[in-house]
Amino acid sequence: MENDKLLEDSFGRKHDYLRISITEHCNLRCTYCMPEEGITLTPKPHLMTADEIIAIAKTFVELGVKKIRLTGGEPLVRKDAREIILALGKLAINLTITTNGILVHHFTETFKTAGIRTINISIDSLVKDKFNTITRRHYFETVQQNIDLLLREGFRVKLNIVLIKGFNDVEIIDFIALTQHKNIQVRFIEFMPFNGNQWDKSKLVSYAEVLETIQTQYKISSIERLIDSANDTAKNFKIKDFKGSFAIVSSVTNPFCSTCNRIRLTADGKLKNCLFSNTETALLETLRAGESILPLIHQNLSSKNAVRGGMDDDLKFQNPTLFSQNRSMIAIGG
Ligand code: SAM
Ligand code: SF4
Repeated sequence: MENDKLLEDSFGRKHDYLRISITEHCNLRCTYCMPEEGITLTPKPHLMTADEIIAIAKTFVELGVKKIRLTGGEPLVRKDAREIILALGKLAINLTITTNGILVHHFTETFKTAGIRTINISIDSLVKDKFNTITRRHYFETVQQNIDLLLREGFRVKLNIVLIKGFNDVEIIDFIALTQHKNIQVRFIEFMPFNGNQWDKSKLVSYAEVLETIQTQYKISSIERLIDSANDTAKNFKIKDFKGSFAIVSSVTNPFCSTCNRIRLTADGKLKNCLFSNTETALLETLRAGESILPLIHQNLSSKNAVRGGMDDDLKFQNPTLFSQNRSMIAIGG
């Protein structure tokens, strides 16, 4: 097979967006991401070193990857995060990062040097007590300050909000209000089921419900639907005359699998062709043995299912027996 076809799956989808989880560790314990009891961490010798991350990333770039997002766990807690970011910044890609924002003030210069322009920050509540409850830690002010710091420093900032019914759905309008004077994008994410995250459908705030809530505050004529970029997982909107915008990521009620261009690499060097797939391809042993990982990449992509890791209807998708076979989100990298 030609190398430029290696990242194509059997449905003709080209995968040019690689998400790399660089650590399973995190300085928060978000309830929807991490089981209360924590996760069994992979022993260090089985995790990718910085050199291995860079080598695998380079292989993917040679095959056609154009965008890399660093994630985790919390990517910035990794001791050699700076070295990894700077090395990846030298590749001909759009490099981005998703972070909880706690350590961002130590990294603004690194981001600039590496050419990172857009940063996604997770913040699920604008109310201190609620933020602390959902993250099970106390970093509310730090995250707020770091969002403002990034804006001052000229970064494009996107805020990720996982909506949970009865908890933070009452803040949808407050988040939208942030976009009036600040050029940020707020992204409402439907709560997704993973191992140990106490998911159940009654906690889901759907795409339709988010829009209904927004329409209680803003006239339909002032809610503008923006043009989504190709392969966008979010549906994009803005309120007329507001500086920023908002988006809804509806993986549960409105999956976007048909245009999926994403592939994931876990911190222990396993390739996941879908967030929801529980089959993985180990790259690390082969890389360490000095052999080519190309056949493994091909095998992984050619086994990609059409829809959500094979859970092609809602009954399967919402079945705890099935979603518990997947990793917890903290060990995948969202
Ligand atoms: N620690 C970083 C952070 O929180 O931004 C990066 C890793 S985190 C796993 C990546 C994204 O996944 C975050 O925006 C988080 O809100 C989202 N996420 C985690 N669990 C989720 C779930 N069950 N449903 C939807 N999104 C989830
Ligand atoms: Fe950590 Fe991010 Fe998961 Fe929260 S969502 S526990 S910050 S990895």
